[in-house]
Amino acid sequence: MNSIIQCENLSYSYDDGNHQTSVIKGLNLSVNKGESIAILGQSGSGKSTLLNLIGGMDKPTQGTVFINGKNLTALDEQSATLMRAQNLGFVYQFHHLLKDFSALDNVAMPLLIGDEQEKNAQKNAAALLDQIGLGHRTNHRPSELSGGERQRVAIARALITKPHCVLADEPTGNLDAQNAEAALELMLRLNQQQETALIVVTHDNNVANKMNRVLVLKNGVLNES
Ligand code: ADP
Ligand code: MG
Repeated sequence: MNSIIQCENLSYSYDDGNHQTSVIKGLNLSVNKGESIAILGQSGSGKSTLLNLIGGMDKPTQGTVFINGKNLTALDEQSATLMRAQNLGFVYQFHHLLKDFSALDNVAMPLLIGDEQEKNAQKNAAALLDQIGLGHRTNHRPSELSGGERQRVAIARALITKPHCVLADEPTGNLDAQNAEAALELMLRLNQQQETALIVVTHDNNVANKMNRVLVLKNGVLNES
């Protein structure tokens, strides 16, 4: 089985006690190893909600998410966290780097959480930063980096564990055209080198056009564009 992510008949409603907002409605999605997918859709169509379901941060109201053939939906919080750490990487529109830590320590963090020895984690993080042209910025804190550099560090942090799939929620939404291009190239390069699947939510047609498949989220389901 080559499918890294499988969503079957997925539904999700927000419930504030008074009313329900049904956002995802019987959605199916299968993502293969190394595949890159763009998800387009109007604001409020449920793109972030869908990524939260795939990442196991929210549990579907109905349906199942399989990660690498394992039923994520059936796991308790702790097991879901472990499954997430072992299989997935996350990139957000705003970098979410830890402000008191250097670029090197931010990138090394997921390895340390995964019980890698500190020396090894730092060595691997330094090598990846070097590879993405930030070898001269390893000791800089996020506030001492440009917006484009910060986002590249955030991408390195998402990919340092060589996850099976990276979930990116408008990763270039906060960057100018040149930095957006650099961030996109970096994600695609690591996607190819590491055979990491990519699911990228975007408004940017340039980004979408570089992916293997483009899907549109509308009325709670995904369709080919
Ligand atoms: P997108 O990322 O496509 O812009 P979202 O997934 O953030 O859309 O939101 C989808 C819909 O769910 C929106 O209509 C939004 O208002 C609603 N929604 C999001 N979060 C909540 C929440 N915590 N409680 C209630 N409704 C929510
Ligand atoms: Mg969103």
